[in-house]
Amino acid sequence: MQVHPKIQAIADEAERLIEGRFKEIERLIDTNQWKVIEAFQKYKVSDYHFSGSTGYGYNDRGREVLDLVYAEVFGAEAALVRPHFVSGTHTIGTALFGVLRPGDKLLYITGRPYDTLHNIIGRGKDGSGSLADFDISYGEVALQESGTPDWDEIARCLTPDTRVIGIQRSRGYDWRSSFTVEQIGEMIRFVKAIKPDVIVFVDNCYGEFTEALEPTQVGADLIAGSLIKNPGGGIAPSGGYITGKAEFVEKAAYRLTAPGIGGEVGAMLGTTRSLFQGLFLAPHLVGQAVKGSVFAAAVFEQLGFETRPRYLDVRTDLIQAIRFTEAEHLIAFVQGIQKASAVDAHVVPEPWAMPGYDDPVIMAAGTFIQGGSLELSADAPIRKPYTAYMQGGLTYSHAKLGVFKALENMQSRNILP
Ligand SMILES: *Cc1c(COP(=O)(O)O)cnc(C)c1O
Repeated sequence: MQVHPKIQAIADEAERLIEGRFKEIERLIDTNQWKVIEAFQKYKVSDYHFSGSTGYGYNDRGREVLDLVYAEVFGAEAALVRPHFVSGTHTIGTALFGVLRPGDKLLYITGRPYDTLHNIIGRGKDGSGSLADFDISYGEVALQESGTPDWDEIARCLTPDTRVIGIQRSRGYDWRSSFTVEQIGEMIRFVKAIKPDVIVFVDNCYGEFTEALEPTQVGADLIAGSLIKNPGGGIAPSGGYITGKAEFVEKAAYRLTAPGIGGEVGAMLGTTRSLFQGLFLAPHLVGQAVKGSVFAAAVFEQLGFETRPRYLDVRTDLIQAIRFTEAEHLIAFVQGIQKASAVDAHVVPEPWAMPGYDDPVIMAAGTFIQGGSLELSADAPIRKPYTAYMQGGLTYSHAKLGVFKALENMQSRNILP
């Protein structure tokens, strides 16, 4: 591999700076790997659980045990893990529609949620079947300048009709910090002290296995995430999971299938083995991806770019945000990441309108699973200030190579400082 000496020197220095961080990440992988194996052992996962079901999928023991193993890993009462969820957005929507009823209010306390959720929330009687269309109102409390929750405003907005509190763990396409599980626990204690019966929902996308605890272990009632992100371990072909209190998981299951049917049916269509194996691999692969993000932060910080989180910061998700001054820089960066792919490296990504997103989005995704973002990927809505979000990497070496290619691409366009 030919690497420009300047780029190699930056990378070497970055790896020296992050040695200690890597040790911490390796310990985290050990902890989470053992947690997952213990859950498999508790439910005596066996080869016969991997054979799928067809038709209604009645008595699919593999599906039932998969739910139990997930609940155990997340320290929750119940779980619903299904390939039938088409995306993270669908999974989150199912959880919210499952527990909200006409007249209720959903209150997000971590600012504007992820772009694709805006259509679920809806605007008035829009005929789309959004929450608003069903008379479920919505409020959101912006974060303070410092990135912390606005406690006074949360207390003011937490009205008697507030049924669900929404918390987004990851920054999404936002410059704010992601919230650690400890910070989420603090938010939960705060809102429950005001209204003990409120249901706390956490969008856990990108967060799984980046810490030793999950939001369900600090009081979250219901959480959801995507299987083509962290917990799918790079090999789940599609799907999502919902976990938390049994009564709320059941309501979500009624929404996914039909009232009275819930999670008792649903053929797994041959995905069961990869959902189990993906969960088994997830702690390790998440660790690889986190190492890649820390490396990218260290490299771009040395070059004088603003990063979030910084390489020394505590992490609670996979996402590495890097801020550029021009759209061209952003595009050169994202296209560089694509050049390091094993799949579709010959394709040049361009900004494009995407369903559910408000601005054109450019995405580098040379992935085995379409859109799978535990795999190395980078994306950015084309809007000011120009911020690229990179995440994933099934191997640390791939993430590192992605950073090399991004730097080379910027260098060839004379925009590397
Ligand atoms: C990815 C993501 C979603 C939505 O997931 P999709 O699979 O893209 O629909 C929701 N919230 C956050 C924070 C995410 O990162």
